[in-house]
Amino acid sequence: MKEYDLVIGLEIHAEIDTKTKAFCFCKNEFGALPNTQVCPICLGLPGTLPILNKKAVEKCIIAGLVFGCDINEETIFERKNYFYPDLSKSYQISQFQKPICKNGGIKLKNGKFVRFNRIHLEEDAGKLIHKDDCDETLIDFNRGGVPLIEMVTEPDLSNSNEVIEFLTNLRRILLYSGVSKCIMQEGGLRFDINLSVKEKNTDNLGVRVEMKNLNSFKAVKKAIEYETNRQIKEIESGNQIIQETRAWNDEDEITYGIREKENVNDYRYFPDPDIVPIKISKHDIESIKKNIPETYFDRIIRYKRLGLSDYEIDTLTDEKFIADYFDEVLKYSSNYKEIANWMMTEILRITKEMPNTDIAKLISPESLAYIIDLIITKQLTRNNAKILFEQIINTGKEVKNLIKELDLIGDVNKKDIVDLMGHLINENPNIVKSYKDNPEDIINYCIGRIVKSTNGKAKIEYIMPLIKEILKSKIN
Ligand SMILES: [Zn+2]
Repeated sequence: MKEYDLVIGLEIHAEIDTKTKAFCFCKNEFGALPNTQVCPICLGLPGTLPILNKKAVEKCIIAGLVFGCDINEETIFERKNYFYPDLSKSYQISQFQKPICKNGGIKLKNGKFVRFNRIHLEEDAGKLIHKDDCDETLIDFNRGGVPLIEMVTEPDLSNSNEVIEFLTNLRRILLYSGVSKCIMQEGGLRFDINLSVKEKNTDNLGVRVEMKNLNSFKAVKKAIEYETNRQIKEIESGNQIIQETRAWNDEDEITYGIREKENVNDYRYFPDPDIVPIKISKHDIESIKKNIPETYFDRIIRYKRLGLSDYEIDTLTDEKFIADYFDEVLKYSSNYKEIANWMMTEILRITKEMPNTDIAKLISPESLAYIIDLIITKQLTRNNAKILFEQIINTGKEVKNLIKELDLIGDVNKKDIVDLMGHLINENPNIVKSYKDNPEDIINYCIGRIVKSTNGKAKIEYIMPLIKEILKSKIN
């Protein structure tokens, strides 16, 4: 079999995080009852005029700045004409000739720089809901007119691993810069993949196929793998690849043709006569720059300086709210390693068990820092710390009250252990006899009993040598 190279380019749509839509004052919020966030403007009724949302333009400029793009001094909005039931005005306000941003890109770990061709601002379409139980299709226009940035890359990617690394970085960069919430389950971040295969060591490009509207990294990876195999099989069987748009079926994990690929001319782009050209001055860009929050890469650098490992940084920064909570805990405790441990285990577990819950409301950063400091100063055993943590989550009670109520802190001294061991041996003299044959089991048994009877306050590393000493003295 011949060897093939993959040539992949991406188009990424991210919903911009604004209070209102791109060209009207309807709310930009996910999850409302269908068709309750619509008005004559976003429905495109005759006689209405669009009013450009300045915040959406600013956030598109921020996206350009964080990806190292050039910002055009003048930008224009155009109408992209096509008919589809989810597009009530039969054109989408988009950008073609003069997008807000051009060039820029993301560097991958292998050193490859994946270039952006452009980043522009446009509006989203409504959503078709195909009902399972009948032949009806419903339309929800709430999403129509929501501001999107479209990011178009050059065909610089060569395999699915590169694509996933690129998209992971892209998502985090957008998230940290506040441009988009990037919630893939809600369609807030969607991917189109342009893919062709070509024989290794030739310059003849293959025919490009576009896969549209993938909304998870898993789907992206599987679609690339499926489509690569399909195209190679077609070529090997002597068939032509058709230039077309294909959809991804998540259940069957296959792509299927939906229409022949349109050309740019088919859309009859022309400047929207209702929106004047926008001038973006150097001064505008400078003042927008000042409002960009700490970027994803700056956060990584800060965590590296703190002493966190690459793995810890990767896990903590995947969701911004996790990293932000970590930073809050850091304000109350300097034990960053221990805080990172708790974030990676208990806090991540809680966010999986109770998604969409504000962690700070379940346990305040100050309370978690307090528990961690008690562990580090050896006033609280790890086991009791976990009990305390669970109780705070489950009851919502205040940490210091719970410590008193559950009696989790206090010193267990040598005399206490001698007394408790004496009591145990009196109760069950076989302990001493069995110790000769089975010392490990008996020591573990005694540790268990003493930890229990001290309400978890006895620390194993402290009581183990004492227990051994006492048992040994009894057999001699
Ligand atoms: Zn509206």
